Amino acid sequence: MILLLSIFHVAATLGLSLGIICLVILGIWRTFETCKQGVNYLKHLHEIPCSQCIYFTGNYQLKCTVNPIGALTEEAIGCPDYEPTRKQTAIPSCRRAGWKNPPYYQVKALLKR
Ligand code: SF4
Repeated sequence: MILLLSIFHVAATLGLSLGIICLVILGIWRTFETCKQGVNYLKHLHEIPCSQCIYFTGNYQLKCTVNPIGALTEEAIGCPDYEPTRKQTAIPSCRRAGWKNPPYYQVKALLKR
C-alpha cells in the first residue's frame, strides 16, 4: 500500500511539474508571438507614406489636400496620389518656382485667415 502511495505521489509530482513547465513555456511563447505581431504591425504602419508626401498638410483638421479621409490611415498605403517631398518640385497645378512645399504653406496660410 505504501509503495502504491509512493508511486502515486511521484507521478503526481512529476505531472504537476510538467504542467507548470508547459504553462511557463506556453506563456513565454505567447509573449514572443505577441511581440512579433506588434513589430510586424508597426512595420506595416510605417509603410504609410503620408508624412513624406507633398500633399500632407501636417494639420489634423485637413491632413491631406487630395485624400483627406484616407490620409494617415492604412488606406493610404499604396496611395496613387503619393508625391514625395524630397523632389522639391511644385505640384502640377501650381507652377510657381522656388516653393518647397506649396500645399502645406498654402493650407496653413488659408487656415490662419
Ligand atoms: S495624397 Fe495619399 S499619400 Fe499623400 S498625404 Fe494624401 S493620402 Fe497620404
